[in-house]
Amino acid sequence: MLAIVGALGTSACASGSSGGPAPAPGPAPALEPASIDSAYDADVQRDAALKDAEDLRVVAAEARAANSGRPRSILPFGVTWAPVPEEGSAFGIRVLERPSGRRPTALQGEFAGLPIRFGKLDGAWFGLAAVPIDTGPDQELVLRFEFDDGTTHEQKLPIVVESRSFASSQLSVAPKYSSPSAEALERIGRERTLIRSVLDTASAEWLIDTEFRAPRPMTITSPYGQARLFNGELRSRHTGLDLKGADGDPVRASARGRVLIAQDLYFSGNGIYLDHGRGVYTGYFHLSRILVSVGEVVEAGQLIGEVGSTGRVTGPHLHWSLWVAGNSLDAGSLLEMTVPLEESTP
Ligand SMILES: [Zn+2]
Repeated sequence: MLAIVGALGTSACASGSSGGPAPAPGPAPALEPASIDSAYDADVQRDAALKDAEDLRVVAAEARAANSGRPRSILPFGVTWAPVPEEGSAFGIRVLERPSGRRPTALQGEFAGLPIRFGKLDGAWFGLAAVPIDTGPDQELVLRFEFDDGTTHEQKLPIVVESRSFASSQLSVAPKYSSPSAEALERIGRERTLIRSVLDTASAEWLIDTEFRAPRPMTITSPYGQARLFNGELRSRHTGLDLKGADGDPVRASARGRVLIAQDLYFSGNGIYLDHGRGVYTGYFHLSRILVSVGEVVEAGQLIGEVGSTGRVTGPHLHWSLWVAGNSLDAGSLLEMTVPLEESTP
């Protein structure tokens, strides 16, 4: 596997400092075998089937029907997700509470060994799972429910991760970027520390209130995950998605969030980090202008900056990044998620 040394944000986040709460201490509870009974089948539906509120009501009704005649406390909960999990991407998971069922007070999740920080969003549980590059195909989603009487329940679900191939590319940049000086390395180190520390203070609750959207029209000039050789030297994978743009073109917030960082960074140039809550961050880099300040809450689609060519770049474009559970992932996967909005409350 390639060493990822290029993008500042990736290195900063790779510490996992922005990840979810640690799983409960002590030995993991014994897991039930992943038996799939009829109730389970009815509950587990792909988000693809959930195009609108009507579909959601159908699923809820099916879940109710499948569970009729059972004691109220019998689980599992209904789980839906989108998009199809793929190496290098994130996917959104919704957990539906049955109207007649028990209401958990907390939900923690895990996928491929990484935490999922579920939070209530308009009445439904919602969390993003990270699928880093090199995640194998056969994975398991683990959901741990806690109830106010102190009892817990664990639900497991096998999920297949699709593999993806990543191209490589040669780039020529100024030597100061492929072989930073001692002074530059010191600056890079300071910036990593800064990013790590602000990500630690990120919001425990969801700040989003719409689905995610693209910060610019989705004309991709360089895809996520591309292996990069700078001046012939293998240095990194492309940790973001490059979108076409000319100097001064608008850059908009992918979703509602709080500005964590808005400043010039060594590799990233003028960059903005947005905290969307629950360990999910997006980044916007190489900007010619930053139009927001640290601490400000920006709305989905709000103009936050302008395309530029600051930092380690070969020309103007927007480098758009996503981090979930401390992993840098393909931000494009955000656009295929179904975020629960007001229709979710049964
Ligand atoms: Zn880029």
